[in-house]
Amino acid sequence: MPQQGDTAGEAKRRRLSRADNPLVRAVARLPARVHVKLLVAFVGTALLVVGVGLLGLRLLGQANERVETIGTLQDRAFGYGKLRSDALHVRLLLSDNVAGDFVESLGAKDLTTGPGTLAVDQAIANAVAEIPSTTFPDILGFVPPPEDERFLRRIRGTATELSTVMQEIIRFPPGEVPASLRTRSERLAVDLNQLATELANASAARSDALIAQSASAYASSRNLFVGVAAGAIVLALLLGFVLSWSLIGPIQRIDSRLAAIASGDFSGHVDVANRDELGALAVNVNRMNDELQRLYKEVETASKHKSEFLANMSHELRTPLNAIIGFSQVLREGISGEVNAKQHEYLDDILTSANHLLALINDVLDLSKVEAGQVELQIARFSLQDALERGVSMVREQATQDGVQVTLHANGSLDVVMGDERRIRQVIFNLLSNAVKFAPAGGQVDVDATRFNGEVTVSVADTGPGIAAEDLDRIFEQFQQTEVGASQPEGTGLGLALSKRFVEMHGGRIWCESELGKGSRFVFTLPAGTT
Ligand code: ADP
Repeated sequence: MPQQGDTAGEAKRRRLSRADNPLVRAVARLPARVHVKLLVAFVGTALLVVGVGLLGLRLLGQANERVETIGTLQDRAFGYGKLRSDALHVRLLLSDNVAGDFVESLGAKDLTTGPGTLAVDQAIANAVAEIPSTTFPDILGFVPPPEDERFLRRIRGTATELSTVMQEIIRFPPGEVPASLRTRSERLAVDLNQLATELANASAARSDALIAQSASAYASSRNLFVGVAAGAIVLALLLGFVLSWSLIGPIQRIDSRLAAIASGDFSGHVDVANRDELGALAVNVNRMNDELQRLYKEVETASKHKSEFLANMSHELRTPLNAIIGFSQVLREGISGEVNAKQHEYLDDILTSANHLLALINDVLDLSKVEAGQVELQIARFSLQDALERGVSMVREQATQDGVQVTLHANGSLDVVMGDERRIRQVIFNLLSNAVKFAPAGGQVDVDATRFNGEVTVSVADTGPGIAAEDLDRIFEQFQQTEVGASQPEGTGLGLALSKRFVEMHGGRIWCESELGKGSRFVFTLPAGTT
């Protein structure tokens, strides 16, 4: 039983193996453009249809000719049949086997006189006299073939001779006709009858033979038509199969290669035998693959150097910074001796600037790491409520100093979510410190969090200066600040860019709803599955 997992792969392999068919590859290798190949296929199929149609018409014509011939034979059979029946009745009359209706049909008036009487002899003489003329085409209604002409000539001769004998007979008074004349007339009547019968039989035999031949000709025509039509269908299907796979095969190969390139695999080349547009496309895909591979290696190397540089620099910068911060604190505490008010003030300035520089270095380092793909989220369950409370307490002192009131509205329903706690806290702190920073004295900051359909939404709203509509997207890019933002003593334009990266790494979204002069509301979501 086939494994479920490999059915898709199997199907793909089967599809590609169709394109590996030698016939398909041969068509693919033809040095012609795709539209020429398609044109040839369509014209070829149309020609096959026309060919089958012409053959059908020809076979129909032949069948029609056979029907006409059989019609002619029927006319001939009728004509010869009449000749034979005339001859038969003359013979019967002369041999004393009179058929009354026949004598009547011959126009004999006095039937009571019976055979051998003058009236009957006269009627027979008249009938026989007409027989020669009935052997000519205008009376027969058709032109007899040469082989029948021989019989017709003999019938004409015999009938003429019998007519002469009958004329002699009727010159004698009834009962005095010499027996030799009667005998001769009877012999001639028998000959006449025999000739007419032979002619009718020969014609009937030829008709039968032709009908039989016509039936077999119909059968072979039908077989020929069915064979040619079936052959044409098979040929058209074969043409369609070969041509379509010579195009689909390369497209599938190019598609798989592009999918591999898209997923960062530059290790292979697409193998397309086509010498048409698809072949050219495959060559370009391979060139693109090589070029991308080269660029990717360069980018990898550059990124590695950048990371190394940043790691070294941050170490080099942080070490003296930490020393500056540490020793400034020591000096300010007066541990190494009394400092006067002026010195205290300078030390505060040093500490503020050094902390600001340290925060900036940390942000730059974080952003570089995210961009180099070196930040991996430490996903675990944590309390969002706690994270929000800690964020609020971290900005509380600054808010109190600035006369801003910060309120957390979220209730305990948001206890546990899944995510990287440190990064989410960074996002919350950044939004809160911005809100406090931009809210005026006596202003208000409201933090809210809700859960809907498993998705968690956190919002930080302030009563600050607000943001113009055209800046709402831009502020999430690195080093982008509004005019108000740039005029603030603190601020680097990196906090929102970092927040956006962290939220998106979690699969969430972040945006800002604001209007100039009406405060701002920053919102981010953590998708379903994070709870
Ligand atoms: P920074 O605050 O360090 O300048 P951010 O990336 O956090 O950098 O913010 C970028 C810019 O967005 C700020 O400089 C400011 O112009 C604007 N901004 C951010 N938060 C607010 C807010 N709550 N009210 C008004 N403007 C804001």
